[in-house]
Amino acid sequence: MRVAVVHELGQPLTLEERKTPIPGSGKVLVKLEASGLCHTDIHAAQGDWVFKPTPPFVPGHEGVGIVHAHGPDVDDSVLGTRVAVPWLHSACGRCEHCLSGWETLCLQQSNTGYTVDGCFGTFVLADANFAVPVPEGIDPLEAAPLTCAGVTTYKAVKVSGAGPSDLVAVFGVGGLGHLAVQYAKIAGATVVAVDIADDKLQLAKDLGADVTINARRQDPVTEIQALGGADAVITTAADAEPLKAAFESLRRGGKLVLVGLPADNEMLLPVFQTVLGGISVIGSIVGTRRDLAEVFELHAAGRTRVVDETRALVEVNEAMAELQRGEVTARLVFDLGTPNVTY
Ligand code: NAD
Ligand code: ZN
Ligand code: ZN
Repeated sequence: MRVAVVHELGQPLTLEERKTPIPGSGKVLVKLEASGLCHTDIHAAQGDWVFKPTPPFVPGHEGVGIVHAHGPDVDDSVLGTRVAVPWLHSACGRCEHCLSGWETLCLQQSNTGYTVDGCFGTFVLADANFAVPVPEGIDPLEAAPLTCAGVTTYKAVKVSGAGPSDLVAVFGVGGLGHLAVQYAKIAGATVVAVDIADDKLQLAKDLGADVTINARRQDPVTEIQALGGADAVITTAADAEPLKAAFESLRRGGKLVLVGLPADNEMLLPVFQTVLGGISVIGSIVGTRRDLAEVFELHAAGRTRVVDETRALVEVNEAMAELQRGEVTARLVFDLGTPNVTY
């Protein structure tokens, strides 16, 4: 099989041939058709975060493909089915978090493309219990971005508690944000999209955003407060400046839902305004298998639109550079299933 490997943090990935693994107990081998490029993959490859992955590793946690083989104790019926391989590679299934519907908080979890090899390749090993079925009729190239960007923002909107009378602001309308806008609309909210690129804001408008703000030209705090302040803000832009603006855009009683993960790992939180304003600060990490199933249901019902462009896996380093330069409209997806595409 072909894989793109990080051998040293901060260095370009290398494409190499590896022996295709044989799935062990509880595992399935998935022949990938599509693999999305999440900004997390860049943070991983660069070793941006406090918890660093250990090279060599294969990034990628938006994998979609067909189950090609399975381990000894996995039922034959999975063979030939289409599954998604998300960030949550596995969780213990026994702890209080797993048992209360919060498997994403399991302390014994492993993570695809971070602690175990991920989906930047022609095959990936997944845990049979954590590979999520992709319903008929969803294009694998669209299912891929839903597998992280989709489920993460769907969950973020859920935990924000947003409803029809709420004003929800989404800071950062990239891979995650373009889906966050749509889930907030589905929740019935009035949606403000904030970004620094006009093409992304145009896209947000096309996807249903009621108000768009270019933070390079307008002050999001003034604009959002003029609308009464946000009941919830979802932050996918991961810098100090948008985080500060997101906080200040809230109305009293508002919820700040943190999703984007800044390399410096810090934001300044004014305690006085948080206390007197009754502000909730909520960290939101991906979503559960059930959340992803709901995301797929919504997409199969035609209620969401995935905006993606395809690349070949050989272009992995250039694709990462494009994303870092802010040149990607929404999501890049490596096409691994179309004949004649070079892997
Ligand atoms: P992306 O690069 O596709 O999107 C980021 C967007 O932020 C871009 O549209 C960019 O133009 C915009 N932006 C940059 N600076 C801005 C500013 N000052 N104000 C407003 N917008 C600004 O990235 P992505 O794949 O959507 O990921 C976003 C972040 O979310 C990353 O940090 C990633 O690691 C993190 N992430 C978190 C989770 C989670 O579970 N919490 C899951 C996936 C990704
Ligand atoms: Zn991701
Ligand atoms: Zn657990």
